[in-house]
Amino acid sequence: MNPQDSLESTRLDHSIVLKANHLKKYFDQGSRQIKAVDDVSLSIQSGEILGLVGESGSGKSTLGKLLIRLLESTSGEIQFRGKNFLSLSGQKLRNERRNIQMIFQDPYGSLDPRMTVAQLLSQPFEIHGLLSPKERKTRVQELLKQVGLDETALDRTPHEFSGGQRQRLCIARAIALNPELIICDEPVSSLDVSIQAQILNLLKDLQKSLNMSYLFISHDLSVIEFLCDRVAVMYLGKIVEVADRNQLFAHPKHPYTQALIAALPRFGEGKKQIKTTLSGEVPDPTNPPSGCAFHPRCSQKIAACTQNEPVLVQNGNHLVSCWLTNPKKEESKL
Ligand code: ADP
Ligand code: MG
Repeated sequence: MNPQDSLESTRLDHSIVLKANHLKKYFDQGSRQIKAVDDVSLSIQSGEILGLVGESGSGKSTLGKLLIRLLESTSGEIQFRGKNFLSLSGQKLRNERRNIQMIFQDPYGSLDPRMTVAQLLSQPFEIHGLLSPKERKTRVQELLKQVGLDETALDRTPHEFSGGQRQRLCIARAIALNPELIICDEPVSSLDVSIQAQILNLLKDLQKSLNMSYLFISHDLSVIEFLCDRVAVMYLGKIVEVADRNQLFAHPKHPYTQALIAALPRFGEGKKQIKTTLSGEVPDPTNPPSGCAFHPRCSQKIAACTQNEPVLVQNGNHLVSCWLTNPKKEESKL
């Protein structure tokens, strides 16, 4: 029996794998609050890579953790594979968690240093009571092959591997149960540039061959451009623009997206340079600016930007939250 077969059974045929509605996560910070995720709605299609980009502190990791329920949201809804994910608990939640996995920036921190690779990769099957010991062994060998490692890895412990190899092990663990969705949180940010490309190619190949969806989180737009089908841009807890990758890079509509793209090296010189530049720091999240949170750094701001908060609305093929492009205040339909 192909061990993959027994893992296939829980797959459902949904065009939308995950849908988040009005998600919020507020952290108490002394007498103040950090609105780390503030009314975020998004959907992830089956088989797509949705990029999530923004500067450090914009709430990307918090959003990722909310979606997989590593953190409980302050409010909002998550539909995962057609079910109300936030209402699940106990065994039902554990069962559903097979289908959603997460890969983190620090591959060392996510692997128990005392366990061998054989143990680390068998663990998901033990936890979920899947496959016979013999089938597990076959599956572990298959997983190693899928991530570009071989059987000599089996008896070794994580510290014996390089950063890139450790991230391969984390990827092997993440795909072990044949998930529908993987939240990848800056999975190459801690790796050398030469290794980053290898891991990105591996993630791209696996996503295609295993027909998974990714929410791919990165502060690096060039990584996002390489990998993603669609991109959501986050600023201070909110999504400010969503568009297909090519649309977003060719015609960014939000001044923040324009500034991020302008900072990319290939746009930094020559004709294609976009005039907007990104100056100043990300504001104090305990004391966000009035109106549009980006207005203090925005070179195109108008009076409305300082007074009223824009909402995410359809603008051509984009969703944009900006008074310049969306003068009418209407609720977006995601
Ligand atoms: P990103 O991943 O985009 O860098 P994070 O999601 O890590 O952003 O953080 C968003 C904001 O929430 C930051 O201001 C951060 O300091 C704050 N934050 C994150 N986790 C916690 C926590 N556990 N307690 C308090 N504040 C937090
Ligand atoms: Mg982060």
